[in-house]
Amino acid sequence: MLNIVLFGPPGAGKGTQSERLINKYGLVHLSTGDIFRSNIKGQTDLGNLAKSYMDQGKLVPDSVTIDLLRAEVLKHDSAKGFIFDGFPRTNAQAKALDVFLKSMGASITVMLSLDVEDEELKKRLLKRAEVSGRADDADPKIIDNRIAVYHKETAPVKSFYDLQDKLISIKGMGSVNEITERLFVSIDAL
Ligand code: ADP
Repeated sequence: MLNIVLFGPPGAGKGTQSERLINKYGLVHLSTGDIFRSNIKGQTDLGNLAKSYMDQGKLVPDSVTIDLLRAEVLKHDSAKGFIFDGFPRTNAQAKALDVFLKSMGASITVMLSLDVEDEELKKRLLKRAEVSGRADDADPKIIDNRIAVYHKETAPVKSFYDLQDKLISIKGMGSVNEITERLFVSIDAL
């Protein structure tokens, strides 16, 4: 299996790049943010709960997120591999993912981490708000909160994979195509 954690701050381009990677490598794309948003649309209990955190730019609690992710992986039992986009976002999530994959006889192959400067992220998210309709993209205060949460709770997950020699940092500034090319080169060299 090829299991990729596509990592980076909000607005780094994980969703856009994931689409390109799944096409080339035949992987299943699992975005916890997308799953939460589809639950919000469907007004499920999970959606209502997730919304109360997402609207403030906070993380949804680990227990809920981990259970959700596990269920999604199990839905695709014949997958060639996965792109995890927006997960894991805390060390507890990363540990749980390792344990879970191990129980399936699998593991994370690599973490590809997109590096983008904070000022660029803010610009991209405000621009995305014009088309995404996402409340968390439209408000500069919520954006600041998401970026702060990223630095405090999520960025440490890089060390988790670095300690396993699985971290590759990719420059996430430049055109979408340039960044895709950098990702392809890193994956093809694995
Ligand atoms: P972005 O990366 O642009 O912030 P996402 O769609 O990945 O967008 O996430 C949107 C929101 O969904 C996050 O701000 C958070 O509230 C919630 N979320 C997504 N993934 C997770 C996760 N793994 N753990 C906790 N909360 C999450």
